[in-house]
Amino acid sequence: MSSSASSRLANLWDDAKAAAMSEPERLVYRSNLLGSDKRVTNYGGGNTSSKIFETDPLTGQSVEVLWVKGSGGDVGTIKLDGFSTLYMDKLRALKGLYRGLEHEDEMVGYLPHATFNLNPRAASIDTPLHAYVPKPFVDHMHPDAIIAIAASADSKALTQEIFGSEIGWLPWKRPGFELGLWLETFCLENPDARGVILESHGLFTWGDTPKECYETTIEIINRAIEWLEERTAGTPAFGGPAVTPLSAEERRAVAARLMPAIRGMISADSKKLGHFDDSDAVLEFVSSRDMRALAALGTSCPDHFLRTKIRPLVVDFDPANPDLDATLGGLGAALEAYRADYAAYYERSRRPDSPAMRDANAVVYLVPGVGMLTFAKDKATARISGEFYVNAINVMRGASAVSTYRGLDEQEAFDIEYWLLEEAKLQRMPKPKSLAGHVAFITGGAGGIGKATAGRLMAEGACVVIADIDEAALGSATEELGARFGKDFVHPVRLDVTDEAGVAMAFKAMALAFGGGDILVSNAGISSSAPIEDTELSMWNRNMDILAKGYFLVSREAFRLFKTQKIGGNIVFIASKNGLAASPNAAAYCTAKAAEIHLARCLALEGAGEAIRVNTVNPDAVLRGSKIWTGEWREQRAAAYKMAPDELEEHYRQRSMLKRSVYPEDIAEAVYFLASDMSAKSTGNIINVDAGNAQSFTR
Ligand code: NAD
Repeated sequence: MSSSASSRLANLWDDAKAAAMSEPERLVYRSNLLGSDKRVTNYGGGNTSSKIFETDPLTGQSVEVLWVKGSGGDVGTIKLDGFSTLYMDKLRALKGLYRGLEHEDEMVGYLPHATFNLNPRAASIDTPLHAYVPKPFVDHMHPDAIIAIAASADSKALTQEIFGSEIGWLPWKRPGFELGLWLETFCLENPDARGVILESHGLFTWGDTPKECYETTIEIINRAIEWLEERTAGTPAFGGPAVTPLSAEERRAVAARLMPAIRGMISADSKKLGHFDDSDAVLEFVSSRDMRALAALGTSCPDHFLRTKIRPLVVDFDPANPDLDATLGGLGAALEAYRADYAAYYERSRRPDSPAMRDANAVVYLVPGVGMLTFAKDKATARISGEFYVNAINVMRGASAVSTYRGLDEQEAFDIEYWLLEEAKLQRMPKPKSLAGHVAFITGGAGGIGKATAGRLMAEGACVVIADIDEAALGSATEELGARFGKDFVHPVRLDVTDEAGVAMAFKAMALAFGGGDILVSNAGISSSAPIEDTELSMWNRNMDILAKGYFLVSREAFRLFKTQKIGGNIVFIASKNGLAASPNAAAYCTAKAAEIHLARCLALEGAGEAIRVNTVNPDAVLRGSKIWTGEWREQRAAAYKMAPDELEEHYRQRSMLKRSVYPEDIAEAVYFLASDMSAKSTGNIINVDAGNAQSFTR
C-alpha cells in the first residue's frame, strides 16, 4: 500500500447541506457520501439505517420507525425509495417469535408484517442487524482495510491492538436474526463501544446523530488504513513480483484473443459477457509470487464471493515466454477441471434442500502479467464482479502482509451461496430480455438506420459496438444511447470499413469491451447518383469500396470471431431495394448493393454448418434521420422528380404500394427479428421494408 495521506478518506460531511434536510433525507445523504468511495464499501455492499420518529398514518401518534436500506440497493446511488420502513415496536416484538438458530430464516417472512406506511420496498436480510443495535444511527460497511483485518487469522487480536475497547469484535456469523441479537448483546455489554468488526465480513459503527455516525465510520476506516500502511511499509505485496507484466499494448492483445475463446467455452447454456481489467492493483497481484496460493484460498467477505465465486481460475500463461497458442490449446481442459472442482464442492457441501447446482464456470480469470478477465450474464455484472475481486485483492494484500489471510470456511461459503433466501431472491429477478448477453457490432452505427437499430437491440438487452467513420456523430450517438440504456451497454469505435487492419482492430476492441460478439449488422453506407456516362471511376470505386468491400471485410472478421467462439453467429446486411430493382442514374450504388445481397447469400451457405445465419434487409426511402438524405442525394433525387426537397417524403409515400412512409425504426424492427431467435430457422433470406414495391419482390 502506498503510504500517503491521499490514501485516507476525506470527511465529506457538509453541515449546511445536512441542516436543510429532513431526517430521511439526511439518511440518503449519509448513504450516498459513504457509497461514493469504493474503499468504504463495494457496489451494493453494506447498508445504513436511521431510527426516526414519525406520525403513524392510522393512529396519528408518534412512532419509532426503522429506515434501513432495502433489499438489493446500493448505498452510493440509493434514493429515498430505496429504503424500507418498519415499525420498531413490531421488530422488537419479533424477538418473542424467534425459535432459535435453526429456524432463523423463517424470521424473514415476518418482516413484511412490520412494514410502516405501506412502503413497497422489501426489507433486506440485514434488517435485524440494524434494528437491534440500540442506537438511532447505524452504518454497516465493507471497507477493504477493515476486511483485511477481519479476514486475518488473528483478526480478534489485531482489532484489539488497533482499536482497543472502542471497536469490538464478533466471530463469523451469517447475517440474519441471530447476528442481530449478537449485536444487541454486544452493545448492551459494551455501552462505550463505537462499533464492531465482524470476522470475515465488515464493520458496524453507530452514533447518536447522523453526523457522528458518518464521522465514526470514516475515522475508523482511516485508522485501519493508517495502521496497515505503517505495518506494511517496505514489505513487498504478495511476496513480491514473480513475473514482469507485459506492455499495455501486449496485454490488450492477449486479452482480446483469450476473451472470445473463454466466452465460447462458458456460454453453452447462456451467453456471457466479459470485462478486462489491467489496473495497477490487479497487475501487481497477477504478477506476484503468492498469487496462485492466495487465489486458491478463495475470497472472504460473503459479498465478494457471491459475485466472484469462491475462487478464480488462474490461466496458464507465462509472460516471460508467451505462447498464446499453447495457452488457448490448454483452456478447454483448464475450464473443465474448474467445473469439475466446482461440482465436487457442490456435492461436498450440499444440504438435503439445497437448490440445484448453478453454472459451474469461473467468473474471474487471472492471467499472469496480463490482468483479470471477468464474465457474467451481462456487462454491468461482469464489470462489478471485477470490482469485487479488486476489493478481494486489496483485502488479501493487507491481510497477508500483517497476518495470514483466511478465506471463508467452505461450508459457510456454500451455505451463503445456496441459501434458500438467496435462491428466492434470484427467482424473483425478472426474466432476462431476449438479447441479454448478446453483443452486436453495427457499422454506420451513428447514422439514421444504424442508431435506430442499436437502440432496438439494446432495448432487448444487447450490448452494442457502434462503428462509424463520423467521429462527431459517434460521440453524440454514444451519449444518447448511453443515457437511454446505460453506459455499460454501448462502446463506440471509429472505423472506416474499407480499412482491412482497422476492421480487425475494431473487432479486437469489441472483444476487449464485451468479451466477444454475436451479431454483425453491416450497414455503413453512402449514396451517389449520376448517369452512367458521367459516373467517374472514383465514384464507382467509392461505392464498391464502402458497400461491397466494406461488407466483405466486416463479415470476414465476424466469421473469424464466430468460429473462435463456436457458439454460432448472426449477420444482417442492410442492402437496399436498389440491389434488386434497377434505378436510373445510380448504377454504381445499385451494383454495389446487388453485390452485398449476393455476398449475403454466399455467406449464408458457408456459415450454416457453424450455426452462422446471414440475412438481408432492404430498406427504401428512409428519409427521416438518414444522413444520406440530408446532402446532395436529396437534391439530386428531388431534381430528378422535378419537386422541392421537402416534397420528397410525401412523393415516396405515394409511390409505395401501401402508401406509407418508412422510418429507421421500421428497418430496426426487421433487423431485430433477423438477429433474434424469432427467426432461428431462417438464413439466406431477404426482407424488404419499403412499404411495398413490386419491382423488388423477391423470387
Ligand atoms: P446515414 O448516412 O444516416 O448512415 C450511414 C452511416 O454510415 C453514417 O453514420 C456514416 O458516417 C457511416 N459511414 C459512411 N461511410 C463509412 C465508412 N467508410 N466506414 C464507416 N462508416 C461509414 O444513412 P442511412 O440511411 O442510415 O443508411 C444506412 C444504410 O442503409 C446504408 O447502407 C444505406 O445504403 C442503406 N439504405 C438506406 C436507405 C434510405 O433511404 N435511407 C435506403 C436503402 C438502403
